[in-house]
Amino acid sequence: MSLVIVGSLAFDSIETPRERRERIVGGSGSYCALAASFFTRPKVVGVVGRDFPEETLSFFRRRGIDLKGVEVKPGKTFFWEGRYGEDPNLRTTLRTELNVFQDFRPRLPESYRRADILFLANIDPDLQEEILNQAKNPRLVAMDTIELWIKTKRRALLEVLRRVDIFFANDQEVKMLTGEVNLIRAGRALLEKGPRWVVVKKGEHGVLVLGRDQVFGLPANPTEAVTDPTGAGDCFAGGFLGSLDRESRVDGRSIRRAAAFGSVMASFAIEDFGLERFRRLKRKEIEERLLVFKKLVRF
Ligand code: AMP
Repeated sequence: MSLVIVGSLAFDSIETPRERRERIVGGSGSYCALAASFFTRPKVVGVVGRDFPEETLSFFRRRGIDLKGVEVKPGKTFFWEGRYGEDPNLRTTLRTELNVFQDFRPRLPESYRRADILFLANIDPDLQEEILNQAKNPRLVAMDTIELWIKTKRRALLEVLRRVDIFFANDQEVKMLTGEVNLIRAGRALLEKGPRWVVVKKGEHGVLVLGRDQVFGLPANPTEAVTDPTGAGDCFAGGFLGSLDRESRVDGRSIRRAAAFGSVMASFAIEDFGLERFRRLKRKEIEERLLVFKKLVRF
């Protein structure tokens, strides 16, 4: 099958209670594609400025990521700054500079239009819709979002939601979008708005997956030292969709396995700043962690 990921490629400044990193490479598209690259050969759509490091693009290519859909524009790359408190589940966005994203009109290259799986990672819902309109009969469409768009572009967001199969969101976003405080009721309310599956990410508390006739949950991989939580959600989606793409089928069983691979990839992402952990990650480590994870949830 084939997986197309539309998302941001970014510079992030990140502050944790112990350390601060300035302008390291991140972005929803970067994290997601890297995580997915351990399962399949993802194709990415996005935009960067001329300041984006060529070395990172080479690293992506070495990982088998297709960058035909990434435009390099005069100007500065998207920038995001965030701060985490002692609780890594809570973060504050300090600054967002759209830069080259400001007037980005995403285009799916011809070779991407027949993708089997299309993932609309966290970007402006208007851009997500533009991409969706260019895809030709994808077998599966998934989307993610953040609080910013729920607050500022709610209508556009609900319009995209109507057309997707899988909606990834964290617990706060799900509650904010539906006005429900109970997660199951919130998830059910979202299922009525279009998607077949709602995947609720709960940070260190794991994930809850709701389908039309089933609900299941997984804990997060137990991790004592969280170095940088940025990108955990995107890597979850990357592992999840990469695994589905590799399996070539979407049913209850493959969705469960996808959630386990998503959790494993997220657990690697948070062990180091930015994309660093993926530079030294081995396939064998993924398999080993999956086994540990299986034991954890068996009873
Ligand atoms: P996550 O921690 O999985 O929610 O993803 C964090 C990534 O999302 C960071 O690398 C940011 O660069 C990126 N990001 C944050 N805000 C936005 C936004 N408004 N649009 C696109 N990407 C964003």
